[in-house]
Amino acid sequence: MSDRPLTLMAVHAHPDDEATGTGGVLARYAQEGIRTVLVTCTDGGCGDGPGGVKPGEPGHDPQTVAAMRRQELKASCEVLKVSHLEMLDYADSGMMGWPANDAPGSFWQTPVEKGAARLAELLRLYRPDVVVTYDENGFYGHPDHIQANRITMAALAMTTMTPKVYWTTAPRSMMQRFGEVMREFGADWEEPDAAEAAEMPEIGLPDEEITTWVDTTEFGGQKFDALAAHASQGENIFFLKMGKVRFTELMGVETFVRVQDDTGAAVPENDLFAGLR
Ligand SMILES: [Zn+2]
Repeated sequence: MSDRPLTLMAVHAHPDDEATGTGGVLARYAQEGIRTVLVTCTDGGCGDGPGGVKPGEPGHDPQTVAAMRRQELKASCEVLKVSHLEMLDYADSGMMGWPANDAPGSFWQTPVEKGAARLAELLRLYRPDVVVTYDENGFYGHPDHIQANRITMAALAMTTMTPKVYWTTAPRSMMQRFGEVMREFGADWEEPDAAEAAEMPEIGLPDEEITTWVDTTEFGGQKFDALAAHASQGENIFFLKMGKVRFTELMGVETFVRVQDDTGAAVPENDLFAGLR
């Protein structure tokens, strides 16, 4: 054990991903005295603009959106008591197939080794004990999420000093429940038919393949408030409609698959820091 504080680093694609994916663990580990570092790779410029204006519509200015989302991200970090926020500020690449994918300076167009070199500097600076990012499909196929996985795994390979590495995931049992709640709250959510389902990347994992289940229900209110800090984004409004209690029931346990481990901690585990303290 060193005199360095135990450190969690979460690498996310956009402002607001820290809240939905890892708001619970960021809040919980901060409360336990663990240093938390959030790396947000893009500026979120392809998000909704003021008044819900969508990218490509008149009045949508990516720079204005990015500035607004930077403020929202800072507010979310205050709620979650994130110790250090690092923004790589690549241009948001938009959803797969959008012209923004190919724009110069977009995260998707950035060579992996370049993004990884910047992240490797942060790994050397903070020396996290635990790094969390997305799976190779970016959880749901968004190019910036895929790229976040790629630069993270490349940066970890360059630095080889992080004991535990995780990808966020969702148990399939929960995805079903998620669909039910979506319908209950009137979201435009149809179960994909068989042909659509075959086209879609598989989201989440069978429950038995999940290595790590972290109970963050105690921090559901903070996670909700962090997401509320990003209320300019249409997809977050759905979650906010649920209210704190239902939101916490649905989103209170955060799940991960452990992809690198030097500790030998047995799985399934209920703590990202199992074997480290
Ligand atoms: Zn995102």
